[in-house]
Amino acid sequence: MQVLDGKALATTIKGEMREEVDQIRLSGGNIPHLAAVLIGDNPASESYVRSKVRSCEEVGFHSTLIRRGTEITQSEVLEIVEQLNNDPDIDGFIVQLPLPKHIDEDAVNLAIDPRKDVDGFTPVNVGRMTLGLPSFLPATPNGILTMLDRYGIETSGKEVVVLGRSNIVGTPMTILLSRKGSPGNATVTMCHSRTQDLKFHTRRADILVAAIGIPEMVTADMVKDGVVIVDVGINRVEDDSRKRGYRLCGDVDYKSLESKASAMTPVPGGVGPMTVVSLLMNTLKASKRK
Ligand code: NAD
Repeated sequence: MQVLDGKALATTIKGEMREEVDQIRLSGGNIPHLAAVLIGDNPASESYVRSKVRSCEEVGFHSTLIRRGTEITQSEVLEIVEQLNNDPDIDGFIVQLPLPKHIDEDAVNLAIDPRKDVDGFTPVNVGRMTLGLPSFLPATPNGILTMLDRYGIETSGKEVVVLGRSNIVGTPMTILLSRKGSPGNATVTMCHSRTQDLKFHTRRADILVAAIGIPEMVTADMVKDGVVIVDVGINRVEDDSRKRGYRLCGDVDYKSLESKASAMTPVPGGVGPMTVVSLLMNTLKASKRK
């Protein structure tokens, strides 16, 4: 089985970006600047944002982290978004999800200037993506496309099954893999929590993308020999034998699938690092607008 090593690929792509940023600096151009808004103290969000900021530094971008506590009001969040929209020094920004329950995530998303929406979550970018027009593609699905492309995994004419219908992974993944292009041109089935007989669908998959959030739910009996598996899930499972008291695992039972899949992403070190790279690629693109 081939391990689709997102960590190694992300390092390669970051090296390429670093060279590009060095060239931009030498020619006196605009150095990309990403801002991240982190609200509250969700440990997973903290770790994602930390990794995004660290990656910016690695490739030579400027980065700004805006941190606020859970007591922040809706209008204060919208004010931060407005400031970032209007700040000529910021090329792109993200508001890390999930937000505290009293904040309306849709209202925050709608307030983001699509030209700075490097997460690709605003209606303008989602609409443009759906129509096949140039846009900021959502980071995780785009990271997966980059990975499939760089590893030379053919998607044209293949049966792809996507598990999960979230706005940030499952739905855009379904759209991107079914549209014309490469990677693309696949026959895509989207499954979700109301799907009856999940196994019927997953067993037909040439490529299976799991974005569910249930630890190790996909097992060997659910797939056919030679399947390519992209495991998006990042789950914390209690584990007293680990110093930190938990281990990270995906939505796929990696061990049982190792002998059946032809290629698979590990967790951690698969889709996660590619998501961060996509965000950097979008920020670089946004910075070229100037
Ligand atoms: P979500 O958590 O918003 O929703 C889960 C989805 O799974 C829903 O669409 C639901 O319909 C579906 N689902 C639930 N039970 C199911 C079942 N039994 N069969 C089939 N489908 C079922 O989705 P999300 O935000 O896309 O997150 C999914 C997972 O991916 C989480 O573990 C999350 O942490 C992870 N994630 C990872 C990255 C990354 O960069 N690697 C990025 C985003 C999300």
